[in-house]
Amino acid sequence: MTKFKTLDDLGDIAGKVALVRVDLNLPMQDGAVTDDTRVRASAPTILELAGKGAKVLLLAHFGRPKGERVSTMSVSMTLDALQAVLGEEVMFVPEVAGPVVEQAVGILQAGDIALLENTRFWKGEEANDPAFAKAIAANAELYVNDAFSAAHRAHASTEALAHLLPAYAGRAMEAELTALDKALGNPATPVAAVVGGAKVSSKLDVLTHLVTKVDHLIIGGGMANTFLAARGVNVGKSLCEHELAATCEQILDAADAAGCTVHLPYDVVVAKEFAANPPSLRTCNVHEVAADEMILDVGPQATEALADVLKTCRTLVWNGPLGAFEIAPFDTATVALARSAAALTAEGALVSVAGGGDTVAALNHAGVADSFSYVSTAGGAFLEWMEGKELPGVTALER
Ligand code: ADP
Ligand code: MG
Repeated sequence: MTKFKTLDDLGDIAGKVALVRVDLNLPMQDGAVTDDTRVRASAPTILELAGKGAKVLLLAHFGRPKGERVSTMSVSMTLDALQAVLGEEVMFVPEVAGPVVEQAVGILQAGDIALLENTRFWKGEEANDPAFAKAIAANAELYVNDAFSAAHRAHASTEALAHLLPAYAGRAMEAELTALDKALGNPATPVAAVVGGAKVSSKLDVLTHLVTKVDHLIIGGGMANTFLAARGVNVGKSLCEHELAATCEQILDAADAAGCTVHLPYDVVVAKEFAANPPSLRTCNVHEVAADEMILDVGPQATEALADVLKTCRTLVWNGPLGAFEIAPFDTATVALARSAAALTAEGALVSVAGGGDTVAALNHAGVADSFSYVSTAGGAFLEWMEGKELPGVTALER
């Protein structure tokens, strides 16, 4: 089925040099890695290649050094986390091309792993410079991309290299692409999408793409206020982009034309101040919001109706929380609908795919991240995929 070569297609790679693009852009504090999720995501690919006897050269970017060697942005800062997760010694090589890498390859034994320096220390990386990519490729025999999160960038280590060496999707990349294909590429229908979060303006392309792709579009969060206002609802002091009223009408018209049902909340949770459990907290119909109130969550009746919508669907794709979930009790609708989706997934009734920084945090908060079919931590690349954009790092891997 797959349009990509995977590690299953490798054949005998004993003693061969494999360049492996991974995501090591890890959150750090005081020189220590605070979250090694991305390392754990790529560990199976790295260990499988090493186990097959390849000499593994890891390639990654770290921070934004903009084509200069910036010592505080050396990818070697991730070396300890890398070795701890892999349970293997990793050699650090302070270059990505040239004789120093060549020498390192000579020292490495089959099954050994080395980490090359931050690709963004060289201008050729972000310029997707073919000569730079050629110099990197010169020391290797195959290329594996396991960094979906960097695939929306056409950079030398994500794009050009894939054309210069036999190219394969790593296990994490393969899992992400398979999940995304099930969600919007070749989904079981009907398909529902939940789009929430703060602003319509940040997700215009997502909304425009989804109305042509899904049967049910559930709009929540601050962006629902903008749609409600466009429909003539008085949303009081709510976060709302009134200037986007016409755009919202266009999206609703496009949904109509495509046979996509748009769900906006009809009851909401409001308060006069943005604080935990404020005294002014109340639930009301969307038409009863007072001038000094803010809509901060979808109401209980609408949430129940949305859970019923999910019961009629086979596929769910979710980006953006339904309310201001960081503050109690405005997490209620997000948590409830996430748990409904998780239960349907557990029954085998629903394929559920979610992504987005705050969305992942909200699903963790609801305790259901592991119960979804797939949760993408890719951030920008996930959003561009939801916008229907081509991802250069993925396209370059196609057979
Ligand atoms: P993601 O990171 O998953 O793509 P977003 O960044 O688009 O999600 O949106 C998350 C933010 O939206 C959260 O900080 C949340 O508090 C905010 N938000 C959700 N609903 C509301 C609302 N009704 N009013 C104000 N902010 C909201
Ligand atoms: Mg966010």
